[in-house]
Amino acid sequence: MTAGSRLARLAERALGAVLGSAVGDAPGAPFEFGPEGAFSARFPHPGGGGEMCGGGGWDPGEATDDTQLAVLTAESLLDRGRLDLPDVFTRFRRWAAADPKDIGLQTEAVLTGGDPWDTAAARHFQASQRAAGNGAPMRAAPSAVHFARHGSEATMTAARRLSALTHGDPAAWEGAAALHELVRVALTGADPLAAVTDTLSALHPAHRERYAVVLAPDWHPDRATEFNGAVWPCLGSAVWALRTTGSYEEAVRAAIDLGGDTDTVAAVTGALAGAVYGLGAIPARWTEPLHVPLPGFGERVLRAGDLTQLAGRLLAP
Ligand SMILES: [Mg+2]
Repeated sequence: MTAGSRLARLAERALGAVLGSAVGDAPGAPFEFGPEGAFSARFPHPGGGGEMCGGGGWDPGEATDDTQLAVLTAESLLDRGRLDLPDVFTRFRRWAAADPKDIGLQTEAVLTGGDPWDTAAARHFQASQRAAGNGAPMRAAPSAVHFARHGSEATMTAARRLSALTHGDPAAWEGAAALHELVRVALTGADPLAAVTDTLSALHPAHRERYAVVLAPDWHPDRATEFNGAVWPCLGSAVWALRTTGSYEEAVRAAIDLGGDTDTVAAVTGALAGAVYGLGAIPARWTEPLHVPLPGFGERVLRAGDLTQLAGRLLAP
């Protein structure tokens, strides 16, 4: 393979990760907190069309907080030219203050509490003792793409620091770090499922065992011991969806069909499956209606083309 075609394949997968996450989020949103099987009951066949149906307060193709925060992360990385955590936090806070349609409980508490960027999440965790939601992995695609070229350790470190802005529980950081690493591996063209063991060994020892359970080849989302809004079953379900299906579309369908926190499980699944299968595998009928409003940032609404451009810039050295 020539250097040029290698680069083209990398771009295809990186764009797939960023678009794939957003495109999973949007059809997942109307099914949030719904029962298992609701999606395939309404859309029985892959390729059938109409899946960007809207509902539950969402317009057809409208991406939710998952993608909105992913975009804000991407724009901070690009505008600042580095990982500027106070800047990311400021953007998140501005967004949270603009009354977004949806916002995670922990994310909201941390962003609206008035504490500074470097203590807000830790203080919330101290008080609540519950901060292992899936709110950090859901916005992971841009940072995974951006830091991938610096290798595993740098990617996972960036993931942990970005997670810690909103989630005080180190368990949440490790979940985001694991997802970043699996996406990074996929961007190289390798199989992320074959990298699970190495990824686990790169996690903090105190959290390794619990992730080993949900990332095991024989784990099934039915075995989750928490609601899939928690970080462990969310990541486990995304990897399960990738493992048990053969295309981007099937993986996202499987994720939404689990019910519960469908938009986020599908956003995480979409990041992984998009990185594996590439941009070309994402159905055009899903990217066409996709749009990402950015509360707090004027009337801006990003479309698929804007996300593609953003992903390309994240990849550039
Ligand atoms: Mg959401």
